[in-house]
Amino acid sequence: MSSRKIALITGASRGIGLAIAKQLAQDGFDIWLNYHSNHTAAQAAQKEIEKLGAQCELLPFDVADADAVQKALSPLLAKQTPYALVNNAGIRRDNLLTFMQDKEWTDVIATVLGGFHNVTKSVLASMIRAKQGRIVNIASSAAHAPVPGQTNYSAAKAGIVGATRSLAAEVAKRNILVNAVSPGFIETEMLDGLPIDKILPLIPLHRLGKPQEVANLVSFLCSEKASYITGQAFQVNGGICM
Ligand code: NDP
Repeated sequence: MSSRKIALITGASRGIGLAIAKQLAQDGFDIWLNYHSNHTAAQAAQKEIEKLGAQCELLPFDVADADAVQKALSPLLAKQTPYALVNNAGIRRDNLLTFMQDKEWTDVIATVLGGFHNVTKSVLASMIRAKQGRIVNIASSAAHAPVPGQTNYSAAKAGIVGATRSLAAEVAKRNILVNAVSPGFIETEMLDGLPIDKILPLIPLHRLGKPQEVANLVSFLCSEKASYITGQAFQVNGGICM
C-alpha cells in the first residue's frame, strides 16, 4: 500500500476536475477519481495521472445516487481515508424559470447539492476518526452574482457556499478544513453552446480561465500552506464578479 496521502475528486475525468486530479497527483497525492459515465475519458485521465507517479483508482458513480456512492466508497473507506475531498462534479441545465422543467431543476439540485451531501457524508466519519482532512467544494460565480437562466444552478451553488461555511464550523475542532472555490468562465465542455463572444467583454481580464488556474488554488487549499484557512469562498474568475 502506498504511503502517499489520498485525494478523492468527484467529476474528475474531464475539465476542471481532471486538472485538479493531475495537480494533486503532482503534489504527492494518490487519486480516487470519480466520474459518471464517460469511461473512455476516465481511462485516459487515469493514464495521465499514473504517468505523474500517482496511483489512480477509477470510481464510476452518480454522485446524486446515495446508494451508488455508498456502494463504491464503503469498501475503500474500510481500508483507507482520503486526506482531501474535492466536491467538483456538477452539471448545468439552463432555462428561464418560467420555462424550466421540473427535471431541469431537480437534476441540478440533486447533482450539485445532493452530490455534496452524499459524498461528503460518506467520507466525513473516516476523516473525523483520522483527525485531519481538507474538503474543497467547487461552487461558481453564479453563487455570488446574478445569472439569468440559471436559477437552478445559482441556487445549488449558493447552497454549496452556505454548506461550506456551516460544515467548516462543525468540523474545525476535528482539524478538518472546509473551503469553497468559485470559478468564473473556465474553458471546458461545460461552456459548449454559450455565446463566448458576448461573454468575453464582460470579463475584466478579457479571456476565459483555464482549468489549471482553478486547480492551482485547490492545490494550495489542500496544502500545509493553507493550515489557517477555513469556511471561506474564493473566486477564480478574471474579475467578472468582484
Ligand atoms: P465538465 O462538464 O467539463 O466535466 C464534468 C465532470 O463531472 C465530468 O468528469 C463528468 O463525468 C462529471 N459528472 C457530471 N455529472 C456527474 C454525476 N452526476 N456524478 C459524477 N460525476 C459527474 O465540467 P467542468 O469541469 O466545467 O465543471 C466542474 C465543476 O466546476 C462543476 O461543478 C461546475 O459547476 C463548476 N464550474 C464550472 C465552470 C466553467 O466555466 N467550466 C464555471 C463555474 C463552476 P463524465 O465524464 O462521466 O460525464
